Amino acid sequence: MSDLKVDLTAPNGRKITLPIGIYINNEFVKGNGGEIESINPTDESVIAKVSAASADDVDAAVKAARQAFNDPSWRDLPGPDRGAIMFKWADLLEANRETLATLETWDNGKPYSVSYNEDLAEVISCLRYYAGWADKIHGQTIPTTPGMKFAYTLKQPIGVCGQIIPWNYPLAMAAWKLGPALACGNTVVLKPAEQTPLSILFAAQFISEAGFPPGVINIINGYGKEAGHALVSHLDVDKIAFTGSTATGKAIMKTASVNMKNITLETGGKSPLIVFEDCDLDQAAKWSQIGIMSNQGQICTATSRVLVQESILDKFVEKFQEAIKTTSKVGDPFADDTFQGPQVTRAQYERVLSYIEAGKSEGGKLLTGGEPHKNVGEGKGFFIEPTVFTDVTEEMKVYQEEIFGPFCVVVSFKTEEDAIRMANNTTYGLGSAIFTQNLERAHRVAEKIEAGMVWINSSQDSDIRVPFGGVKQSGIGRELGEAGLAAYSQTKAVHVNLGLKL
Ligand code: ADP
Repeated sequence: MSDLKVDLTAPNGRKITLPIGIYINNEFVKGNGGEIESINPTDESVIAKVSAASADDVDAAVKAARQAFNDPSWRDLPGPDRGAIMFKWADLLEANRETLATLETWDNGKPYSVSYNEDLAEVISCLRYYAGWADKIHGQTIPTTPGMKFAYTLKQPIGVCGQIIPWNYPLAMAAWKLGPALACGNTVVLKPAEQTPLSILFAAQFISEAGFPPGVINIINGYGKEAGHALVSHLDVDKIAFTGSTATGKAIMKTASVNMKNITLETGGKSPLIVFEDCDLDQAAKWSQIGIMSNQGQICTATSRVLVQESILDKFVEKFQEAIKTTSKVGDPFADDTFQGPQVTRAQYERVLSYIEAGKSEGGKLLTGGEPHKNVGEGKGFFIEPTVFTDVTEEMKVYQEEIFGPFCVVVSFKTEEDAIRMANNTTYGLGSAIFTQNLERAHRVAEKIEAGMVWINSSQDSDIRVPFGGVKQSGIGRELGEAGLAAYSQTKAVHVNLGLKL
């Protein structure tokens, strides 16, 4: 066994040989930034130690990506051929779907059924969706002075793209960023989150087999402050795409100004879910549970503020509590009936617990949960009970700040105007949900809400064909769909003079 691979046996019995180097120029090499310990959040054991990239390693990865960008074998490859390579990678990932889902669950703590059925399905279909776009990216012809002049536009890749990935959807967020970047002909240096380095290493093994030329995709695990910072401050990186916290997004925005990098940022949220008295109450309660408790509450779009019309508050609270009781089964993420696994790391676990304390000390009333979940993990692991506070006011931290856990607040409102004002009363603007059977109200409120996405009688819908992103301090730019291509291409205008003689 080379020292750049490790043999593992997962909790579900699956045997996995995992590369542990950093991936530059289609090869795994040892990183010089020390090691990252990947911790199993279910029992706090060490799964594996993988290489971390130093600033010099980041420089080597950027050089590889630059060379690959300058080399016509990728950028000038006809769209159908570039797409074919992406399709091949998607096929190879599909053939290894169980192993990838196993690594995702083991490392992140999300239920295996979610990793397999949702995350991996999304990864594969996202790569295929953008592979399909690779031969459909082109400009327009614009008549200017009829008979004499016209202009046309060229859609060109941006160059070397740095992509910084969060830990809540490690592979899916990588696919959202790689898909459009590659379809447009860019080259990439991708930095996974240090909390979840494993699944992308396994996926990287198939990059050269799929046919990507060396340097087109480079994967550098590493720490945010070292490898992340080196990537964002690198003068030969043309673009940074980031998903993560708002605080880190702001720091990245500042650093990226060093050479005025193109940026897209997908940051935090405190998404409202508004329940009007004319809604289907059973549905509102069930979707409210899904909206905040899915993925351990670790979703930037999680509907963490439930605003309920005063006249139905008591009835809603009863049904919401019931939905949590019957659906939010906390347990071993590899068990079939688990809805909620552990939080990803001790730091996140302690962060959520500190917000529970804040909710109590600020005068909120604990409706349910509020404790570490003790019935799993034999005293180990980062499990938290699904938690709901009522009697919360708009000034409280738990109303204003992103918590990123299975934790929400229920607050009442009187009128539609109140609901809109309260929904918009945070610095964020990512997701939002409206429950009503009144068609006019649904569209009226959807228009007024300050958010990048609105769900009517639903929560957390996302589809690779539909733009995803936020307003206010929830981010800049859009991912997914055709909008996602705009983030990875630039438009060149070419003016043509056919007949105007001087
Ligand atoms: P969290 O606080 O939830 O861990 P972050 O937003 O800090 O989330 O992390 C998201 C991603 O950003 C990770 O890949 C992390 O390594 C990276 N990151 C963190 N700090 C920096 C930084 N200063 N520069 C670049 N990347 C960073």
